[in-house]
Parts: sequence; C-alpha cells; structure tokens
Amino acid sequence: MGSGYMSQIRKHYFLDEYCIIAPGRGKRPSDYLGDVLEKETSDCVFCKGHEEKTPPATAVYKEGQILQDSEKFRIKDWDIRCFPNLYPALIQNPAKVSNTEFQAMEGYGFHEVIVETPKHSRQIPDFSDNEILLLMKAYKEQVNYYQSLEKIKYVSLFKNKGERAGASIAHTHSQLLALPVMPPTLKREIQTIKSSETCPYCNILVKEYGSNRLLYRNEEFIVIAPYCSKVPYELWILPQRHIHHISDFTDDLLRFLGDAIQVSLSVLSNSIGDLPYNYMFYQLNDDPEYHFNVKIQPVTSIAAGFEKNTGIYINTMAPEKAVEQLKTNLL
Ligand SMILES: [Zn+2]
Ligand SMILES: [Zn+2]
Repeated sequence: MGSGYMSQIRKHYFLDEYCIIAPGRGKRPSDYLGDVLEKETSDCVFCKGHEEKTPPATAVYKEGQILQDSEKFRIKDWDIRCFPNLYPALIQNPAKVSNTEFQAMEGYGFHEVIVETPKHSRQIPDFSDNEILLLMKAYKEQVNYYQSLEKIKYVSLFKNKGERAGASIAHTHSQLLALPVMPPTLKREIQTIKSSETCPYCNILVKEYGSNRLLYRNEEFIVIAPYCSKVPYELWILPQRHIHHISDFTDDLLRFLGDAIQVSLSVLSNSIGDLPYNYMFYQLNDDPEYHFNVKIQPVTSIAAGFEKNTGIYINTMAPEKAVEQLKTNLL
C-alpha cells in the first residue's frame, strides 16, 4: 500500500473497544446504496384497515388519547399502533424451565411492534412536526409502561429499517423488547461510567462541540459521527444536558429529540439514498449516572468472521469524511 493509504485503530471514547478506520479507495456514496423497499400495500398487515391481521393492540394513539383494542374490536383510524409481535422472542407466560444442562431461565418478557404511521410509504423524514412528536411521546409511554413491570430489568427500544437491517416488513415501525435481564453491554458501560470522575458522555459533548465530527445541533441535542464509528455514517444523538432516561423528558425535550432523529435520517437519506439502518435507544431508568443516547448505524455490510472473532469493526469511511459529506445535505 502507498503511504497515503489511511488505516487507524481507534479506541472508543471511554470503553475498552476498538474499530479500524480503513477507507476503501475510491468508494463512493453510491456504493453504499441500499436495498429497495417493496411498495406493495395490498397485503401489508401494518397498514390501516388491516388491524384484524395483527394481535389486538395494547396501545392505540388516536386523537390525543391512548386506547386499547379488545379481542373482538379493533380501533380504526389510528395515528400510532402498538401490538405484540406475532413471532415474539419473549412471552408473558413461558413454560417453566426444568432440568437444563446448563443455566437457563424462562423466556419471560414482552416483544412489541410500534407502527409509526398508518400510511404505508411514509417514512420518518416525511413526518410533520406533530407526527414526530407523537412518535417520541409513544416511545416514552411504551418504555415507561414496560419498565414499570415487575421482573423487567431493561427495555430495549430500536428500529430496523430495510431488509438488510433486519426488518421483515417494509411499513415503517419500531420494536421494543422488555427483558428480565440486564444486557451485559450496558452493565459493562455503566460500570465504566461509575468508575469515571465525570460523565464520559458529558466529556464527549465538550470535546465534540467544535470538532469536524459534529453534524448538527439544536437547543437540546447534538448529532455527531463518533470518533470510533463502527460503520460508515454512524451517528450518535446526545442530549446536551445530563439526563439518563426518556421518562424524565419534557415535551420540549421530546420535540428536540424528534428533530435530531428526523434531521439525521433526512440527511442520511438525502446523501446516501434509501440505506437500511438500525437505531437504538440507550438509557437506564434506575441509574442517574447514565447519559441517555441514541445510536444510528446504517447497514452497509454484514458483520463477518473478523468482527465476530474480535468484536472489532472495520469501517471503510472515516467519521470526519462522513460528516463533511453529510453536511452538504444539511439544510
Ligand atoms: Zn403498510
Ligand atoms: Zn452526562
């Protein structure tokens, strides 16, 4: 390789994690173009009018109210609709575990789908201010509800968009898994945070405010491409004030969070097209030392042998380059 070729092993801001930034030569944005969504609406079970094809909704957001379906009656003309996943990973009444070779526990928990809009081809960047705010409010409500249940240790809230990001249905939706165990990644992270003198995320804010990895800021949030981006165009959304959980968010904060998510997704789609992505909420309801954040990871390749072997990701686009490019589409 010529000496101009860049390859860096970068360490995570504060965790014992690494990524390798090794930009592929000549790789263009169009090389990342993602999969095409099927636009068929005739048999989409998430579309309005098809409510009978899903389990009864546990929460229906309609005209400022939160309602529930009954077994026999499905509410129509909703704004957001939440119901149990048809193929849940965890269930409310799992069979008792007996006599296992190693450790096992019952697969107790909840697995919910949040259909973000009744309209099939509408995406988050198309949402009005009211629609995005309602989605953030629904996130808060649903997370709070499951978090308050006995035996639930963590509520994972995430969105898979596009087939290669794990979505089996094209109609825009998020998912929530309420778990009876604490995810090891968060356990490790909070341990590291507790052993730090000051909040590592607050430190990131100070350092990244003026950096060439800052993509966007509104009154309450900043959006950065992290120094240790695992994948091309990875973005982190951080509240500027130290706040640990969405349950503490005022409507104003929810509005600015919605804005940060919407701007990020719009800029991504304007820059690199309809790329599949995941976004994940990170928060701890009972630990004020945690710093709430949302991570967006476009799916440009699949984790392969090296990543699985080492936990180290090879990223072909430096975050500074990603921001430089994304900024040209920031209005
Ligand atoms: Zn649909
Ligand atoms: Zn903080």
